[in-house]
Amino acid sequence: MNMANNYFSGRKVTIQSKLVQIIVTVTTVALLLSATLFTLFQLREYRQSMIESLTSTASITAENVQAAVWFDNKRDANKILTEFSNDSRILTAAIYTEEKKLFAAYDVSNKNISTLFEFTEQGRRYQLEDGVLHLYQPITLRAESSIVGYVYLKATLAPLYEQLKQNIMVTALIVLSVLIVAVFITTKLQKLISAPILRLLQATEQVKENKDYSIRVDNTEYLEIKKLTEGFNSMLGEIQSRDEHLQRLALYDELTGIPNRSLFIDHFHIAIAHSKRTKTQLAVCFLDLDNFKPINDNFGHDVGDKLLIEVAKRISESVREEDTVSRQGGDEFAILLGDIQSFEQYEQSIDRVVRAVAKPYKIDNYVHKITVSAGITLYPSDDGDIDTLMRHADQAMYNAKLAGKHCYHLFNAQYNQKIIQKRHQIEEIEQALIRNQLVLFYQPKVNMVTGDIFGFEALIRWIHPEKGLILPLDFLPVIEGVELENQIGDWVINQALMQLEVWQSQGINLEVSVNISSHHLQSELFTINLENTLSKYPSIESKLLQLEILESSALGDLQAISTIIEACKDLGVNIALDDFGTGYSSLTHMRRLPVDNIKIDQSFVRGMLDDPSDYAIVNGVIGLADSFSRSVIAEGVETTEHGLVLLISGCIEAQGYGIARPMPAKDVPEWYLSYQPNLDWMEYGNEWLTVKEDKIKLFNLFFERWINLFETNINRLPQNGLDWPVMDSQYCQCHHWMKRAKQEQQFDGTWLNSLLSLHEDVHRIANDILYAYEKGEIELARNDLSHLHLAADKVRSLLKQVYLTVSE
Ligand code: C2E
Ligand code: MG
Ligand code: MG
Repeated sequence: MNMANNYFSGRKVTIQSKLVQIIVTVTTVALLLSATLFTLFQLREYRQSMIESLTSTASITAENVQAAVWFDNKRDANKILTEFSNDSRILTAAIYTEEKKLFAAYDVSNKNISTLFEFTEQGRRYQLEDGVLHLYQPITLRAESSIVGYVYLKATLAPLYEQLKQNIMVTALIVLSVLIVAVFITTKLQKLISAPILRLLQATEQVKENKDYSIRVDNTEYLEIKKLTEGFNSMLGEIQSRDEHLQRLALYDELTGIPNRSLFIDHFHIAIAHSKRTKTQLAVCFLDLDNFKPINDNFGHDVGDKLLIEVAKRISESVREEDTVSRQGGDEFAILLGDIQSFEQYEQSIDRVVRAVAKPYKIDNYVHKITVSAGITLYPSDDGDIDTLMRHADQAMYNAKLAGKHCYHLFNAQYNQKIIQKRHQIEEIEQALIRNQLVLFYQPKVNMVTGDIFGFEALIRWIHPEKGLILPLDFLPVIEGVELENQIGDWVINQALMQLEVWQSQGINLEVSVNISSHHLQSELFTINLENTLSKYPSIESKLLQLEILESSALGDLQAISTIIEACKDLGVNIALDDFGTGYSSLTHMRRLPVDNIKIDQSFVRGMLDDPSDYAIVNGVIGLADSFSRSVIAEGVETTEHGLVLLISGCIEAQGYGIARPMPAKDVPEWYLSYQPNLDWMEYGNEWLTVKEDKIKLFNLFFERWINLFETNINRLPQNGLDWPVMDSQYCQCHHWMKRAKQEQQFDGTWLNSLLSLHEDVHRIANDILYAYEKGEIELARNDLSHLHLAADKVRSLLKQVYLTVSE
């Protein structure tokens, strides 16, 4: 191969020149050789015939002059010799005596011929010398054989050489014309042989330079070259189709046939240049299918592949031909929308794509549904390289996912910062789950009347290796609506059931409630997963598991939620509406949702001793739950007073710091065993009080709470953020109580007026004390508390007075 290359390129020797060289050399050598041989042969023949002819002439002459010599007749001898004048070859014709002396002669040579020429070789009758032939013939008598003289002939070979010269000339002419013919033939041959080879050579070089494998060489009629050309063409064809295949692999997605990431990048650069030239915008869109994995997992990769092919087709059909649709890998696609003149334009395009993808797919006689989330960024307002723009589009897509999927989002730099942070936090929480940093704490729920603990609420905590304990409201909102929320939710259920099993083995038979986010509750696989998890713990009765659903978290489609709740109830699980009262339409929720239990939100419970509206809500919820036959529990029970107010209002189940704070599971058995019920609650629960007694008890609780709070604050050092009771006498709990009592006319009007007036006194004195306190006259303020005690005692004795009358 190298040799061939050298042959063609290194020494620049062409087949044509080589051919000419070979043919000319061979022809010339052949012709010269044959001409030389022919000439030599001719020379020999000619000479031989000359010798023969002269020998015979000499012997005839010898016979003719025999008598003349014998008789010494020189005249006759000369006469005979003159005959030789007709023969141009003869230079000398002479007769010598027996003694080799000249007898007669015909001579044109003008040389000394007086004696016979000396022949160098004895016995040989001729001799060639300097282009001249010497020849002699002895003259003998016919009867005798004795020699009487000699005939001598000297002939020139000049005509012979002349003849030879002519021959050589003719040969040279022949050689020349043969050479011309050879060159001509070679040129012809070149046309036949080397021209197609040169064409192949040219094509090879073109292929080498341009990497253009579509080149083909014209065929010839000659078999060998034809086969060579065909071989060359078919080899190129093969390379071309392999090249095209490789190009397709390098630039197009094998599965869907649409451009891949590399080609997308090429198109991006062209599109950016176009956008700059035409001063139009370019939209870079990133798309990710929602919930594609379950399709792959449940129906197999074959179905997944078919779906991806169809999705790619639909996306391509939803945009213009000049736009680029590419697959970035997996279930991710990217689109370039050029020539964007307005927001509406890109919105319409992407909306078309999102809607087209969401239409049902029929694959192998089964209908599948899938949606897509898309993120868009617009060049040149978002000016960056391909990686930046793709990252931004990806982030916008992620926002679309967070916003509930099946939608599109436009990239926004400021918003994006928050999203990046959020994504980081989500990843951190995911790691926390993987690394077992999440734990459940348990807070007891008790019956205040019987003093029984009937259950625990499981509350998640993140034990962070550096930050320590993190409360749920500090990290759960981050994962709201994200798949991780469901994973953590499932983990909580499983963990709680596992804990129930452990406690059960320790003889603690209690219910455990877990909090379920609305997103998790409404996720497709919620009830299936719940059922599976329950089946993992056959020893646990499902009624021991309660699901707390947040009332405030916009429950959305009530019909759908009801169906899920029913499905859970069919599994035997209890359902509670958590944080009740914080939603927008609590009444509707209470009426429409088939829940067993209502949990009054702790914020109302905690505030009900001081804030009349909180108390009104708590009281209202308890009444409502009673009307709809739902059991009710109050959380946020921090003090005995909270419990008593709840008991008076008709709620006997409680949860709160007043009973116990949430604790790690390992602490529960010890706490459980050492638990002492609140005797005030039990005592109240076991008393039978009239409505009026209850009312007065309630006033008393509100009043004492007010006095207590005020006194506690005055005895504290002045500081910001002191939580003062309602100082305006018209708005405090007691005033509300009196107002309501007046409306209900349950108490004597005069007594009520006295109470109002004494209550006014309390507020007036308290406001004076507060005035002094706020002026910095702390000591004076504290001393004046004795006035307040007096005024408060008056209220107390008036209350006692009426209490005694109503309890008689
Ligand atoms: P929640 O379900 O209403 O739980 C009651 C919250 O009130 C708990 O806060 C509890 O510690 C607190 N709490 C109980 N008694 C008192 C009290 O007397 N005074 C005060 N000030 N607070 C009291 P936590 O544990 O911080 O949980 C906050 C919220 O986080 C929960 O409210 C619940 O909505 C949510 N959460 C907790 N764990 C989970 C969980 O595993 N999954 C879900 N989805 N949400 C959870
Ligand atoms: Mg709860
Ligand atoms: Mg709650």
